[in-house]
Amino acid sequence: MSKDQAQAQQNPPLLGAIEAGGTKYVCAVSREPSEPLEEVRFPTRNPEDTVAEAADFFRQAEKAHGPLAALGVGTFGPARIDPAAPDYGLILSTPKPGWSQFPLLRSLNEQLGGGIPIAFETDVNAAALGEAVHGAGRGVRTLAYITVGTGIGGGLIHDGRLFHGRLHPEIGHLISPDLDGPYGATAQTCPFHECCLEGRASGPAVAARWGQPAEEIPAEHPAWELEAKYLAVLCVQLTAAWSPDLILLGGGVPRQEGLVERTRAEFVALAGDYWDLPTPEDYIRRPELDQGAGIVGGLELARRLVL
Ligand code: ADP
Ligand code: ZN
Repeated sequence: MSKDQAQAQQNPPLLGAIEAGGTKYVCAVSREPSEPLEEVRFPTRNPEDTVAEAADFFRQAEKAHGPLAALGVGTFGPARIDPAAPDYGLILSTPKPGWSQFPLLRSLNEQLGGGIPIAFETDVNAAALGEAVHGAGRGVRTLAYITVGTGIGGGLIHDGRLFHGRLHPEIGHLISPDLDGPYGATAQTCPFHECCLEGRASGPAVAARWGQPAEEIPAEHPAWELEAKYLAVLCVQLTAAWSPDLILLGGGVPRQEGLVERTRAEFVALAGDYWDLPTPEDYIRRPELDQGAGIVGGLELARRLVL
């Protein structure tokens, strides 16, 4: 081992992460992705003030812990995450006031003095990477990570690499068959599609259909039978298109007691035995890092910049 390597092992570089959500920003620093050292969270306001608050945190952290070696950002989207694109680092058209076309990466660079390498990803991709490397997806070759919360999003990982495609996957907008009929009520919260999974099965979609917040709907309510059917459709689509080894159902809605179990049962009924799959318990699971996945993934993105 060289002297430099020995030194690096004694004091690994300081990594930073931002989970740039539509409602809140979480910033963290650490020397080890799976164990954030210091963390702060604050509401997402207008872009300039929000970025300034994040930059303040990192400047303070540098005073306490030494210079930041790299930063990993996972932002709400849509966002340009292709480093080769001329508008890399931009937030694209979003209903969030003030944020459409905001150059988030450039603004962070400016606020931090320009000397720190920054990895720029979507929030769901960062969370997917966190689970893949440090959570429930450890050792899994092809992972589909889904979050069912205020929206529905998903990230795909193969051999440790995030799939981008032309922009990035928008798994929540997979079109579903309309399963509402027997339940006597319809709610469609996606303004773009008549029947996509986000519009029918996200937390706000469930709340809109049944007239109460999703977390207050009791376990025996038919809402959860219907929700399990929609999530099973999602798992079948992912299986058909991507052939993952593991599907993780993250986000607030699958916290509902029994929902993941019901989704597995509906999945088996819908998929039949066409695919040679692991047992449903091994194939469709909850994440391990859960709400920490975004920050751990952001730190992992930063770590990869300084390897
Ligand atoms: P976000 O998507 O904003 O990051 P979450 O993943 O926590 O946040 O998801 C929030 C959504 O999850 C809300 O719509 C909320 O109603 C729903 N939710 C939270 N807990 C539960 C629960 N135990 N059962 C069902 N829905 C829940
Ligand atoms: Zn949609």
